[in-house]
Amino acid sequence: MGKIIAIANQKGGVGKTTTAINLAASLAALEFKTLLIDADPQANSTSGLGFNPKEVSRSIYECMVGIATVAESILATEVPFLDIIPSHIDLVGAEIEMINLTNREGKMKEALAGIKDQYDFIIMDCSPSLGLITINSLTAADSVIIPVQCEYYALEGLGKLLNTIKIIQSRLNPGLVIEGILLTMYDLRLRLSNQVVNEVNSHFKNMVFETIIPRNIRLSESPSYGIPAILHDADSKGAISYLNLAKEIILKNGLLQTI
Ligand code: ADP
Ligand code: MG
Repeated sequence: MGKIIAIANQKGGVGKTTTAINLAASLAALEFKTLLIDADPQANSTSGLGFNPKEVSRSIYECMVGIATVAESILATEVPFLDIIPSHIDLVGAEIEMINLTNREGKMKEALAGIKDQYDFIIMDCSPSLGLITINSLTAADSVIIPVQCEYYALEGLGKLLNTIKIIQSRLNPGLVIEGILLTMYDLRLRLSNQVVNEVNSHFKNMVFETIIPRNIRLSESPSYGIPAILHDADSKGAISYLNLAKEIILKNGLLQTI
């Protein structure tokens, strides 16, 4: 039974896409069959894995509005055990087209029902908004990872996100849990980074992942090569930290014996 994990935070630039690509690639490196869904019209996960969003003919958009099936929209990536359902800019239009559909919040869940069992993990890269596509992702998800950047205003907007998650839990997806809050772009030398780590830990205690993602050049440059950091430079601090995150999630979900 595949576990669906949404990577969400309506704030832009906090590391959602970097986490989606590198967590998915790390789970795949551990030989868990993984599907990455790019649910952001900016299509950064799509291009980060080497696909040109302008040349994509079927995306998660077509799946949600019922023009294509998920099965025919899946592309194999260069990473063994990792597939992707890409995005393209038309996903922006999906929000408007979906408004008049019945069960408009449940379209992603409906689309994924047929393939959920074919994967160990399905990772969804959400857009920086709490619009209908993100609501669809959270309705389809079993859990959510919230990346928080170790920067000024780290906690800004987090209350609103947690509130949205509560509403989705009560109205649309009672099974949704918070997999964890992930501290990203940590810089050991900065006092501010350490302050944010302490602040988030004291506010959210055992909701925070032990793994902290450092600021690392390999993570920011690997999308330009169209490959995840684990293929670009497996020994880099960035690649190792996402592998550790994957292992932490596997342990937490009781899948250790299968590593
Ligand atoms: P989001 O998807 O939340 O908008 P991204 O993952 O695209 O955020 O990250 C925003 C920017 O920060 C990108 O340029 C990305 O390459 C860079 N970045 C993200 N995480 C790291 C990191 N740990 N170290 C260095 N750069 C990072
Ligand atoms: Mg992004």
